[in-house]
Amino acid sequence: MAVVLKFGGSCLTSKDDILKSIKIVKTYEQPIIVVSAFKGVTDELIAQAKNAQQGKYDLKKLEEVHFSSLEGLSKQRQEETKHTVQSFLASLSKDLTKVSYAHEITAEMLDQIMSYGERLVIQIIAAYFNDNDLPAVALSDKEAGIFTDDNFGNGVILESSIASIKQKLSLNQIPIVAGFVGKNRGGEITTLGRGGSDYTAAFIAAAFKCDCILLKDVKGLMTGDPKIIPKARIIPSINYLNALELANYGSKVIYSKAILPAMQSDISIKIKEFSPENHIGTVISDKMTDVIVIQTMKEVSIINLIGYTEMMKTFADIITEFAAKDIYPLLLTESSYGEISIVVNEKETDRIENIVRKLSHKSHVQVKRGYSSVSVVGNAMKGKVGTAAKVFGILAQQEINIIAISQSASESSISVIISREHLEAAANALHKTFVENQDL
Ligand code: ASP
Ligand code: MG
Repeated sequence: MAVVLKFGGSCLTSKDDILKSIKIVKTYEQPIIVVSAFKGVTDELIAQAKNAQQGKYDLKKLEEVHFSSLEGLSKQRQEETKHTVQSFLASLSKDLTKVSYAHEITAEMLDQIMSYGERLVIQIIAAYFNDNDLPAVALSDKEAGIFTDDNFGNGVILESSIASIKQKLSLNQIPIVAGFVGKNRGGEITTLGRGGSDYTAAFIAAAFKCDCILLKDVKGLMTGDPKIIPKARIIPSINYLNALELANYGSKVIYSKAILPAMQSDISIKIKEFSPENHIGTVISDKMTDVIVIQTMKEVSIINLIGYTEMMKTFADIITEFAAKDIYPLLLTESSYGEISIVVNEKETDRIENIVRKLSHKSHVQVKRGYSSVSVVGNAMKGKVGTAAKVFGILAQQEINIIAISQSASESSISVIISREHLEAAANALHKTFVENQDL
């Protein structure tokens, strides 16, 4: 039976880590491997693209990371792989030079530059596998049958890739697939959004209708962010839609786009710590559980529009533009007396503010930073009278003012926006009441 194993970038930082991954892979019968770039490499590629735009870039750090990872290879294979790495870095250098001449970077070029991390790592991992009696082949984008739409930086894998992936990945050898990277129909490289290799892994598993195991530097999804809620625990089992909500409301453990293909093909996604021990931390599947989670997003900002005329038109224009640009605000409220509130991840504020200002017609736009969001998520809240009152009561007891609220009609989540200084108090008080006595 096939299984997709995805190794996160922070799992593979040295030759020892790569050798450890080989031990794990050897315990599976028909593994398909998906990898992300080495730790910090995607950020470094983006940083160098920006430097190139200013006229100069430096590949020292990228050379060091990739060349030092070759240490554990046999002499001959080390030579061969060094050659391959060199030619990829030479091609990266050419791309960066083009950017430095043009003093600007297109979305297409940025995707091409960002893709080098994964395209390099598969060559290195495949070399190690072949050195250790695991016949393997490195495959990226089209070679692996992964085709996307034209949404550079946030590509969606096309349904037709189900057939092409199955055709391209022969299981006679172990396929080592570049996560995060695809190609559009025009033959240009696209990327799938930050953290996108989870999505690649889930899509491939969905194509083969097999399990998808994500090996990470954490044990699994948790009932809260342990940095904010020290008593947070691992969630053994959670439904797809709840997992999707956690990803949307700030969990960085899984990338939201990975959930849908798994749900459509009814395969489970398992999250496991990167260790030779076989223990699965979290299973995401169609199974309904009663787990309640306190999900937090530490840095959010509020974009507020106030006006008295044409507010529905303004609202419609904004939503249309968000749909075109694939923007999903954390919370969006509209009140009939002329106020629209949009809550977004603080990192995205400038980009979204620009869009909103262009479409604000006659209304007045205010941007406020320094907030956090706290969401109580779980099916167990459905139909229970008094849940919202309990949430608000707990916050009132802590003397925490609520700035904005949302609850979707599925009743599986309630989110509140509060001032950032209250985040710890709010999250821990809610966790104590809703989560600590749960049987998981
Ligand atoms: N390397 C990409 C990133 O850092 C994709 C991933 O890690 O999944 O976003
Ligand atoms: Mg990464």
